[in-house]
Amino acid sequence: MKVHSALFCVLTCCVPVYAAGQRTAAKIAEAFSNIAVDPHQTYRVRDLQIVRGDIKIYLTDGVLAFATPVAGRAVAAVFTTALSETGDAEVLLLPPQRSERASLASFTGSPNLDEHFSSALFIFSDATARELESELQQTAIQPAPGMFPQLTGPVDPVLRSICTQIDVPLVESLLDNHPLDQGFFYAVIGGRHLGSFDVTYQPDDFEPVSIGRVSPDGKRFQLWSSFRPRLAPPFIAPPAEISNYRIEATILPDLSLSATANFSVEARPGDGRVLSFNLSDHLQVQSASINGEPVEVYQRASPRLAELKSSGTFLMVSPTALQPGARYQIQVRYRGSVIRQTQTGYFVDDRTTWYPFRGPMLTTFDLTFHCPEQLHLVSTGEPVSENVAEGIRTVHRKTQVPEALAGFNLGDYRISGFDQGRYHVDFYAEESAARVLDPALQKETAEVLNQYTHLWSALPIHCLSVSPIDGYFGQGFPGLIYLSNISYIRPADRPAALRNDRLNVFFSDLLLPHEIAHQWWGNIVRQADYRTGWLTEAMADDSALQFLAHIKGTTAVDTVLDSYRHELLESVNGKRLESAGPVDFGQRLIDTAGLPVWHVITYEKGAWVLRMLRERLGDDAFDKLQLRMLQDFAARPISNEDFRRLASSFVPPGQPDKSLELFFDTWIYSTGIPKLTLRRKGRDFNLDVSGVDDDFSVDVPLHCRSASGKDQIHWVRAVSGSNFVRPPYGGACRLPAPDEFLYTS
Ligand SMILES: [Zn+2]
Repeated sequence: MKVHSALFCVLTCCVPVYAAGQRTAAKIAEAFSNIAVDPHQTYRVRDLQIVRGDIKIYLTDGVLAFATPVAGRAVAAVFTTALSETGDAEVLLLPPQRSERASLASFTGSPNLDEHFSSALFIFSDATARELESELQQTAIQPAPGMFPQLTGPVDPVLRSICTQIDVPLVESLLDNHPLDQGFFYAVIGGRHLGSFDVTYQPDDFEPVSIGRVSPDGKRFQLWSSFRPRLAPPFIAPPAEISNYRIEATILPDLSLSATANFSVEARPGDGRVLSFNLSDHLQVQSASINGEPVEVYQRASPRLAELKSSGTFLMVSPTALQPGARYQIQVRYRGSVIRQTQTGYFVDDRTTWYPFRGPMLTTFDLTFHCPEQLHLVSTGEPVSENVAEGIRTVHRKTQVPEALAGFNLGDYRISGFDQGRYHVDFYAEESAARVLDPALQKETAEVLNQYTHLWSALPIHCLSVSPIDGYFGQGFPGLIYLSNISYIRPADRPAALRNDRLNVFFSDLLLPHEIAHQWWGNIVRQADYRTGWLTEAMADDSALQFLAHIKGTTAVDTVLDSYRHELLESVNGKRLESAGPVDFGQRLIDTAGLPVWHVITYEKGAWVLRMLRERLGDDAFDKLQLRMLQDFAARPISNEDFRRLASSFVPPGQPDKSLELFFDTWIYSTGIPKLTLRRKGRDFNLDVSGVDDDFSVDVPLHCRSASGKDQIHWVRAVSGSNFVRPPYGGACRLPAPDEFLYTS
């Protein structure tokens, strides 16, 4: 008995949150809204330091005050130099990658951060409080409550406001069971030169270190730099934990959505009492249960700009701790507005966030929709049934294999279906547009499906639905394609502004093959992280270009690639568009002031990268590489480095850069399109590389002809500036053809 009671005591002392039992998310959130600086924990400090990953913070001289504990834990502190004449503090950060240093420099003017600051606010769920307290004890610093009155006035409202902005991860951190070394550290720093900015360390994130701030217009978060610390082990993505997803959704006449999601989830060791999920901010969770028992729900009130990267948008709080590894049956009831009417039909806004999700997903979906009878609805999954009763249409679909995503679309559709080999294809066209529906579309769909299936593999789905979206883009969900409503119309019937050679090729020849290709690239082979997002897009683009070559010949492809080159070289705000960031920055490039930078770099430079890889490997080896990707990465997502390793096994003998490390460094992890000039110097040549950074380096395939007239590729590793070239056999050399290599001359 003694042993037991002693154990009980240890548990209650060390884990007060769980022992309290009745602690709720609402109570914790309320405590955060009243958080304040604590007069008894205010110190005059010297030479304290906080090191997180590659972030180093030195509190050289100033006043440090902890905030009142929340749920028994110290979670915040403020620092200021204002009360000390010799006050100083400093934050240091040097990103490990060149591209991250360049990104930081583009926002701050310097590739490394070395900023003195006069104030800082720290919020944490890690060992920060313990570390600082131990540093204070070692230096025998006594509390200085006299400093407190000068601090408290302006500080408390700021502290409360920032805590409210990151309420979901904060509340989660006090209900979960994370080890202290996996907690987060978040600092809002008032820099002397840079003004206010955020520094975040989140050890369990794909990129634990990030730095940035809300843009001056208050609309976006500018991510200055994001990376894994130099000493961090490789990131291992959590496995998919959700399975057997069932959604029953009702779309009401006012287009609002009311849904119940049922699924099973495996609890992680760190979950403790809380499960966090993401959901569109346009949807409100009404109630939720775990294994049939209603549980507390805590959802953020509105979307935030500055927040911790991998945090969810709502929490489900269990009265007791969840057992790691055990499966729980979850039900979430939610409603809101994610559909709107447009001039030509209906638009689903939150196409990927209309149901709760967490982490990477790979689950079967069983979807039932109820909508007004006059509407038609289509979704991911093979059709199970569809019927109309009392003015309500009910559509039931089910996926036969696990999928990462599920989408739906709806409209006043006319449907035409046809069988193509092992597939059934349904075309959904808005009734109003059906009269001008381009009959070439069905033929193109059939041909594309045929070509891709023959080239790669049969899809694990049988039914493919193509449905319109009111916009100049498409999107490829498992079994469901959103295709721009412009592509539905014959070129001659399109609005005049959209009728030129370039846009005709885009809407008529490229968009549909691109979206169909996503059934393989995106739905079978999935990206491991945001840095690999370009790969599935570029694969879809490359596939569409291959199809274009098939129907219109290689000259049509060369014209498209040339237009991509021109767009990459365009000047935006006095800088070349391509220099905004490497392809692996992915969606981070969307932030660039509404310009099409992200799109051009991801899709167009991405297509060029694969074009150059195709040139290196040869068409046959490139096809084999794609087959291997489909085999090896159907069950787990692919990263850039996975792709590099696999592609390197297809590099033909005799080529440089067998590992493709330089190729990836030059084209995927860095920026730069070189200007190449080749000049003869006696029997040798000079290859001049300009228009790129000093540290740019690239393998250039020169076409050389020997004295006996034999053509061969002569690879030259060229750096920025002048490069000496001695051609084999003293023959003549020329630069690669403009459709083979991304350069200017
Ligand atoms: Zn795409």
